[in-house]
Amino acid sequence: SEKLLEVRNLKTSFYTHVGEVQAVRGVSYTINKGEAVGIVGESGSGKSVTSMSIMRLLQFPGKIKSGEIIFKGEDLVKKSNKEMMSIRGNEIAMIFQDPMTSLNPVYTVGDQIMEAIIRHQGASKKEAREKAIEMLRLVGIPSPEKRVDNYPHEFSGGMRQRAMIAIALSCQPDLLIADEPTTALDVTIQAQILELMKDLKEKINTSIILITHDLGVVADVCSRIIVMYGGLIMEEGTSEEIFYEPKHPYTMGLLKSIPRMDIDEKQRLIPIEGTPPDLLKPPKGCPFAARCPYAMKICVEHMPPYFYVNEGHRAMCWLLHDEAPKVTVDTGVRK
Ligand code: SF4
Ligand code: MG
Repeated sequence: SEKLLEVRNLKTSFYTHVGEVQAVRGVSYTINKGEAVGIVGESGSGKSVTSMSIMRLLQFPGKIKSGEIIFKGEDLVKKSNKEMMSIRGNEIAMIFQDPMTSLNPVYTVGDQIMEAIIRHQGASKKEAREKAIEMLRLVGIPSPEKRVDNYPHEFSGGMRQRAMIAIALSCQPDLLIADEPTTALDVTIQAQILELMKDLKEKINTSIILITHDLGVVADVCSRIIVMYGGLIMEEGTSEEIFYEPKHPYTMGLLKSIPRMDIDEKQRLIPIEGTPPDLLKPPKGCPFAARCPYAMKICVEHMPPYFYVNEGHRAMCWLLHDEAPKVTVDTGVRK
């Protein structure tokens, strides 16, 4: 498979008046062409800051400290703002949690899709309108010929998110970054939007990064999953590996907090206790040590390296060391 994006040892910090908040502390991963990858973690894990770094949309006082972001062979860290403007929306598109903040209430949905098409593809107005209708149809908006002239407030929440996806995809980006795209939606609509993303991934060959705090959301859409915590990747593997053979205690904790249908209501949600590390003063050892039920002395003293279960499955945890005690954990997830 061909590489589309390669993030290499990315470090991003926020230089606040109280000190440097190390939001991303050395993140490396690859996204291949046409592949959907889930990035999962709690808020503050660095998952959104990583994607804002890729988009070069970090807000003050955030700054990429070091590392490379190789996209189609070129380092985005070195691009000028002007160069990034033509990459954003055109080669890399992004959708966010709340479509209402990204859609402009005073223009019709159709106008907003057309604007993107005209700006990036130089289409005529007539061509752009046809394309806009076609995009609305593609994302499952009923009667797109009529709906194209609606304003955002005339759309339901789920339809607005579909419209956002239509705008994002109208320029056929190589990469779509979706940051919590379904979090604001109710469960039924959430499932429909995820189904749509899965469907689109197959129809158009866009690579997708799906960012979420909810491991349950990525299972169906993504072939690989990256689990982040405390500004670092804790574990990466195929969806199968992450769900059925997790190696990192944090991943196991996330799996236990997924609501499951086969057990009774009271047992359903077992949140991971404690709070994420203070990234103003990141711990020198494992970032998860303070919350980990298996923490050992070495965990507090030394940052674990990545241990590879196989070429694509890695975890940053001392438990994978040959001499570590063996623990087997039942996450309750069944095939
Ligand atoms: Fe837990 Fe230690 Fe593994 Fe960190 S390195 S997740 S503290 S066992
Ligand atoms: Mg976020």
